[in-house]
Amino acid sequence: FQAKKFRIGAEFYQKQLPEFSERQVLLRGQLSRAVELKQFILVYQPKVSLPDGKLIGAEALARWQHPEEGLLSPDSFIELVEQGGIIHSFSRLVINEAVRQVSVWLATGKTIPVSINLSVYNLADIDLVPFIKEQLEQFKVPAHLLEVELTESATMVDITVTKKAFTDLRNLGVKLSIDDFGTGMSSFAYLRELDVDFVKIDRSFVASMMDDKRNELVVQGLISMCHSMGKIVIAEGIETEQQAHKLHELGCGIAQGYYFAKPCFAEDMQQYMEHNN
Ligand code: C2E
Ligand code: MG
Ligand code: MG
Ligand code: MG
Repeated sequence: FQAKKFRIGAEFYQKQLPEFSERQVLLRGQLSRAVELKQFILVYQPKVSLPDGKLIGAEALARWQHPEEGLLSPDSFIELVEQGGIIHSFSRLVINEAVRQVSVWLATGKTIPVSINLSVYNLADIDLVPFIKEQLEQFKVPAHLLEVELTESATMVDITVTKKAFTDLRNLGVKLSIDDFGTGMSSFAYLRELDVDFVKIDRSFVASMMDDKRNELVVQGLISMCHSMGKIVIAEGIETEQQAHKLHELGCGIAQGYYFAKPCFAEDMQQYMEHNN
C-alpha cells in the first residue's frame, strides 16, 4: 500500500490507496480501447458427467488477445475491468460471443449448454437481463442452454440485489450457478434462500481432499448438503484420476478440470465433442 496525502478543507488526511504495479497501470489504460476493439475471446472448458466422462456442457472463460502480450488470463485483467467501470460493456461482449457460439454448435447438431461468469457489478445493471433476452432471441438459442455463474462471495454482497437478478434470469429460463462455493463463508441457510440450479465446489477443496480424511469429510458434507437442497453439484479443478474417483464415490455427478480437459478454443471443442459424446 502506498500512502497518499491529500487536502480536504484545512486538514490533511492519509488515505491508503491500493498499489498497482506498472504493468497493471499500463493494462488498465488499454482496457477501454480493448473492449471497443473487441480484443477478447472465449475459451471453453468441458464439464463432464462422472464416472463416464461424457461431455454435458462447457464453461466460457474470457481471454484478452493483447496485441503485444499475447493471450492474457482473467486474473490479470478482470479486476481492472471492474474498477475501470467497463464491466457492463465487457460482459455484453462475453454474453454476445457465448450465445453466438451456442447457436453455431446448434447449427452443427450439437446441443451444448454454456455457462458464462458474471461480476457482482453486473447485477446492478438493469439492462442486463433485457440484453440477454435479446441475444437469445437474435441467435435463436433456447434460454436453458445459457447458464450464469456468480461466485459465492459476489452473491453475498447484497442479497436483495442478487435475489432480484436471479429471479429475473430464472424467469427468462436461464440456468443459475454459484461458483467457487465454500470460499465465501456464507451460511447453509443462505444457500437455501438462493434459487440456483448448480453449485460449483471450489477447486481448493478438491485439491486438499486427498491429503487428509478430514478434508474429504468436508467435501462429502458440502456435496450431501447441496444435494439435500436439490442443487446439482459440480466439482471444479479435478487434476487427477484419484480425485475424479473420490468425487464420484462421494456422490458428485459433474466434474470440470485439467484431468478431463483444459479450456480450449471453440474449434477444438468440436473435436472434443465428437470423441466424448
Ligand atoms: P472460475 O469461474 O472459477 O473458472 C475456473 C478457473 O479455473 C479457470 O481459470 C480455469 O481455467 C481454471 N481451471 C479449470 N480446471 C482447472 C484445474 O484442474 N486446475 C487448475 N489449477 N485450474 C483449473 P481462468 O480461465 O484463468 O479464470 C479465472 C477466473 O476469472 C474464473 O474463475 C472467473 O471467476 C473469472 N472469469 C473468467 N472469465 C470471466 C468472464 O468472462 N467474466 C468475469 N466476470 N469473470 C471471468
Ligand atoms: Mg466460473
Ligand atoms: Mg470457480
Ligand atoms: Mg474462480
